Formats: sequence, C-alpha cells, structure tokens
Amino acid sequence: MKITDVVKTIFNTKTDDITCDECFEHIDEYVDMIHAGQDPSEVLPQVKSHLEQCRCCEMEFRALISILEGEIDHADSG
Ligand SMILES: [Zn+2]
Repeated sequence: MKITDVVKTIFNTKTDDITCDECFEHIDEYVDMIHAGQDPSEVLPQVKSHLEQCRCCEMEFRALISILEGEIDHADSG
C-alpha cells in the first residue's frame, strides 16, 4: 500500500474541513510532496484547503518550505 492510499483512507472518514491538529499531522507529507515536485492537492486536498483559510498553519507551512529550500544550498560550490 502506498502512502497516498493510507492518507486517502485516513481522510475518507472525515468531512472536508480538518482541524489544525489534523493539518499538522499531515503537513510534513504535504511539504515533502511539494519538495519532490509532486502535486499534494489531489492527495491532501483538506490540508490545502485548511492552509488557505488558516493563517497559523499557513505560516507553519511556509516555514517548513523555507527549511527544505535552505537545505538545497549545501550543494553550492561557490
Ligand atoms: Zn490551522
């Protein structure tokens, strides 16, 4: 079973809206997918929706993205 199937199963019993706690549980996966060049909106639509309406979680999301993008700089050979 792929991780995407697991996530779908988790969210399948939920309504469209998730809580901040649920968002934080999956935000790492969401960020990882974006970092890997994938589109998380199909797998984690509730997280995407929550980030658009929750400023607190959006800031957490942006912080995680910044960390990942910062790590890329290690390959710099200046
Ligand atoms: Zn939130």
